[in-house]
Amino acid sequence: MDATEPIQSQKRSCEAADFDRTIKLKERLEQLLHEAAEVEVELSRADGTINGVPHYSLIEGRAHELGKHLSCEVQQRQMSELAASQAMTAKCPTCGTRCELYPKKRDVKSVDGSATLQELVGDCPSCRCFFFRYARR
Ligand SMILES: [Zn+2]
Repeated sequence: MDATEPIQSQKRSCEAADFDRTIKLKERLEQLLHEAAEVEVELSRADGTINGVPHYSLIEGRAHELGKHLSCEVQQRQMSELAASQAMTAKCPTCGTRCELYPKKRDVKSVDGSATLQELVGDCPSCRCFFFRYARR
């Protein structure tokens, strides 16, 4: 009997579950994007931005603004989840003292617009250095 067989079977089962989950998430995202496009078109008519037969650049501009808005939402969500999953202590980058971290919101300008990101920060009691846990921008 092969002792690794149950482990390989479990691994395949997890991979299949991840694959199914990925397909379902992609379908859900497609549905939500379709719905967002419907609402955007309805909103553009309701607020009077799109009236009659507009120049195509007006349609494209509104669509692009929606895309940028979505981008900022995704950035904020990714950073919040990243902050929630990190260790709550880190070494001070200046003196190496282990410091408690706490979540802090920071307004940033991304290529798609303003976003408020939640990040973990430290305030070193030894050297008074203030630092971000991760800030690879
Ligand atoms: Zn320090």
